[in-house]
Amino acid sequence: MFTNLKAQPKDKIMALMQQYREDPREGKIDLGVGVYKNAQGVTPVMRAVKAAEKVLWDVESTKAYTGLAGDPAYGNALTKLVLGDVVPSERLSLAAQPGGTGAIHQAVELIKMASPDATIWLSAPTWPNHPSIIKHLGMNMAEYRYFDNESRAVDFDGMMEDLKGIKAGDAVLLHGCCHNPTGANLTLPQWKEVTALIVEKGATPLIDIAYQGFGDGLEEDAAGVRLIAQAVPEAMIAASCSKNFGIYRERTGLLTCISDNAEQAGITQQNLTHLNRQNFSFPPDHGARLVTMILEDEGLKADWMAELEEVRTGMLGLREKLAGELRARTGSDRFGFIADHRGMFSRLGATPEQVEALRVDHGIYMVGDSRMNIAGLNEETVPILAEAIAKVGV
Ligand code: PMP
Repeated sequence: MFTNLKAQPKDKIMALMQQYREDPREGKIDLGVGVYKNAQGVTPVMRAVKAAEKVLWDVESTKAYTGLAGDPAYGNALTKLVLGDVVPSERLSLAAQPGGTGAIHQAVELIKMASPDATIWLSAPTWPNHPSIIKHLGMNMAEYRYFDNESRAVDFDGMMEDLKGIKAGDAVLLHGCCHNPTGANLTLPQWKEVTALIVEKGATPLIDIAYQGFGDGLEEDAAGVRLIAQAVPEAMIAASCSKNFGIYRERTGLLTCISDNAEQAGITQQNLTHLNRQNFSFPPDHGARLVTMILEDEGLKADWMAELEEVRTGMLGLREKLAGELRARTGSDRFGFIADHRGMFSRLGATPEQVEALRVDHGIYMVGDSRMNIAGLNEETVPILAEAIAKVGV
């Protein structure tokens, strides 16, 4: 049987990580993998997570299964973090998922069950797992322009023009904030325009929000999602706690569906529960429980928010410093976009040859499309990176 299997393409980021580990150079810099790192290069367990784990160890009295859609308290708490109170709860259906990836996978499966001929529209570029999940599930996809390689900002005219091709019943995947891989994001007036177009076309938004709190703040980062959520009859929101709670390996995500009315929401809920049952039965609970404990406890929540804010402002500071260092070295403002971008990533706009030169000549590792993980930098390495970027002539 297995001899029928074809080799799978290597994951580029994993291959890059391997190359980095094998590089013997002292001052090498890893801007590759999409994980937050502090100035010491460590991905820490957040204080509130540690504190919640300690309490949980004391109070948890069973490891029996939760519900098929996870603990409702988790779904409610996380949905409130993302959506606030903009959608009445009777229109919501929720199902805990193994990570944001699980939530996206489940959303695509739900689209497939409801509307197998639908096309799913993706930003060009997007997180590579989006097209790969959609392809794996055998769904149609189309791209809309998103990033202007010249200005390194959103190509909004191109985006709107391409989205005019949406058909009723299609789904449009949007990044809720902190676009991966570019770092370029829609403004609120742009969200409004996109929302109006999606409503006019009768399409359904699928919003991937994996970095809430990493951009302009917890509330600010959810503003676009909330805007679209209150304007459309139906939507899917795939949320991840991997980054903002720093619980990557606990696989903590949620799929929230908004339906037109309470009756439909009940049917959608049955389908979400059914999908969980088919795919993995009960979702993982440990990370979800920690998130619930933190969001429901005033003290833990305040401490989590404070630490998340340190993470966010730390990355913003690095962005500004890098843009400043590049301004000083190149005598131009053309790298100002690094300070304008938000989240963990910025697409530098370097050619594959320049990315290669950064790695070979300077020991600086970034993804081949020149996506840099800003959290891979610190005060000492920012000038080194700026010097290298100027040298290779980006
Ligand atoms: N969406 C985007 C855009 C991401 O970058 C990620 C993480 N790399 C995810 C979703 C999902 O993350 P996870 O499955 O680890 O929660």
